[in-house]
Amino acid sequence: MTKSAKALVVLSGGQDSTTCLYWAMREFGAANVSALTFDYGQRHRTELDSARRIAAMAGVSQTVLPIDTFAAIGGNALTDDDIAPEQGARDDADTALPNTFVPGRNLVFLTFAAAFAYTRGIEHVVTGVAQTDYSGYPDCRENTLKALELSLRLGMDSRVTLHTPLMFMSKAETVRLAQDVGAMEALAYSHTCYNGQVPPCGHCAACELRARGFAEAGVPDPLQVRTGGRI
Ligand code: ZN
Repeated sequence: MTKSAKALVVLSGGQDSTTCLYWAMREFGAANVSALTFDYGQRHRTELDSARRIAAMAGVSQTVLPIDTFAAIGGNALTDDDIAPEQGARDDADTALPNTFVPGRNLVFLTFAAAFAYTRGIEHVVTGVAQTDYSGYPDCRENTLKALELSLRLGMDSRVTLHTPLMFMSKAETVRLAQDVGAMEALAYSHTCYNGQVPPCGHCAACELRARGFAEAGVPDPLQVRTGGRI
């Protein structure tokens, strides 16, 4: 990638998007990277605080875009107070989607991100979605992202490229990448827990998946070190 190309990172404040932010800074040069965060009515506002703090730590400009439609649609554990997130990590035999799936979320996020990028002459959009070792969300899969990229190019007559550096990485490999790109300090302020707890609850699916990745990589989780959490 040329060092003059500009990149927009979809930054949720979580582990994966934080790693992608630092990956993009390495690939495109920090001065060419900006971050976009969506306030979609997520129950856990601490996620937005994490994203703001991490963007500031990275020294990149950040825009927060409000989208209240997902909360209005409802029916999932990330926007509805009365739906509890499923507990525990999933296994490969688990085919039903978890109730933390927000239908259409990544499709909408990336469409808005591409529109935001288009108006600013940015041709590279980076997202931390991964189809490996994840919760089985269909909008995190390679075929979905490729189809969406094509739709965005056709629909906006643009040359936007969707970058998914974590797509085929295990969580342990993502941890090693975070080390390589210098994201560990920022990861101490990232947010993962589906229950919105700081220190993290340690038993929701997101906490378990995160813990497994750091354990397999043989690296202490800087968030755990900072907060004294149980994961
Ligand atoms: Zn948790």
